[in-house]
Amino acid sequence: MTSTLIRGRLLSFTRAPHAIDDSAAYSYESDGALLIGDGVIKASGPYGVVKAAAPDGVTEIDHRPHLITPGFIDTHLHFPQMQVMASYAANLLEWLNTYTFPEECRFVETAHAERIAIHFFDEMIRHGTTTATAYCSVHKASADAFFAESLKRDMRMIAGKVMMDRNAPQGLLDTPQMSYDETRAVIADWHGKGRNHVAITPRFAITSTPEQMEVAKSLAGEFPDLHIQTHLSENRDEITFTCELYPEAKDYTDVYARYGLLGPKSLFGHCIHLSDREADAMSESGSVAVFCPTSNLFLGSGLFPLRALTRRQRPVRVSVASDIGGGTSYSMLKTLDEAYKILQLQGERLNPFDSFYMMTRGNAEALSLVDRIGTLEPGTDADLTVLNMAATPAMALRAEVVNSLADELFLLQTMGDDRAIVETYVAGKPVKSSLDAN
Ligand SMILES: [Zn+2]
Repeated sequence: MTSTLIRGRLLSFTRAPHAIDDSAAYSYESDGALLIGDGVIKASGPYGVVKAAAPDGVTEIDHRPHLITPGFIDTHLHFPQMQVMASYAANLLEWLNTYTFPEECRFVETAHAERIAIHFFDEMIRHGTTTATAYCSVHKASADAFFAESLKRDMRMIAGKVMMDRNAPQGLLDTPQMSYDETRAVIADWHGKGRNHVAITPRFAITSTPEQMEVAKSLAGEFPDLHIQTHLSENRDEITFTCELYPEAKDYTDVYARYGLLGPKSLFGHCIHLSDREADAMSESGSVAVFCPTSNLFLGSGLFPLRALTRRQRPVRVSVASDIGGGTSYSMLKTLDEAYKILQLQGERLNPFDSFYMMTRGNAEALSLVDRIGTLEPGTDADLTVLNMAATPAMALRAEVVNSLADELFLLQTMGDDRAIVETYVAGKPVKSSLDAN
């Protein structure tokens, strides 16, 4: 076994921080080290202690003075929408119909899907994101391209072939039977291969007939361990249209509840306008509401009520995500910067420890994967992000007057982007620097 010793300042969370001074929520080593072997963290702690226990002749990589955190996790994005980012649309439904659906039609071509998959994984690595939960297009070829590239790079990724059989161009429609057969084929081909996870992925209630929702229900019953991902309550017109399509449902959330799609492995993108009843249903089922700040601002969808959802008597689990291509940046730092502003507009705060918790352990907990990712705990995957708070001249100038870890994290979150990512490790291998070398 070849081992590597990675030295730097280490930050890893043990739980959600309650306040900016809640130092019991994380462990921080000012001169720390991680011993890596077989793609896994073997030991973590003060440099002297970890070095003493390391095998003789271990390869050492020194990242001082930079900060090492678990790799960032993005819990909702669309890999076929890389060329949809920055499309000038008034709102969600116009954006989908004018830009997004036509672009996704191109993923019927295997060569196109394979080319975009390469760019997608490159961007994830450039931005320090080591796990993402992705929507592919309706075409099985898009899921094949995504998972093949993920396997090649040995990344822990969650993705699904989108199921949609109405209210979209012909080139983006499957049928209930096709969506069943192809989702099963994607599961058989990719689930558990390398670090790939397949998610059952009905796009949203508007683009699925009740017959297709029945198929999603069957798949969820047959594969209870799989994640389920869809969209919920993003935009007022979307909510109205959904309720017209499913008149028997009490509300939008009830559409998914009726088809057995709520649960602890279910991720619902957006959840901006939930009623109390819907939030209760989310809470009782352990479902996750996914906050997509840059997308919500870009499409004018609304302000995600993070505190209202997490502080209520029956709290809703939350995670945070880029929602590429409605989102405007691949960077989780930029995503949390916009999350901060959304909370400011609601008279709430998001402290930098909270932000870094959400990008790492918080999102891992939301995915029920904290035993594998999101911390620097021994035994977990060696997926890491190395951060430099002085990455640009403006950041370096601001960094001169930083005198606490909280200040550093807030500077990284507010002014940082891919330039602040010094290195990204996937299963113990440095992959960002080799990308830049090519
Ligand atoms: Zn989305």
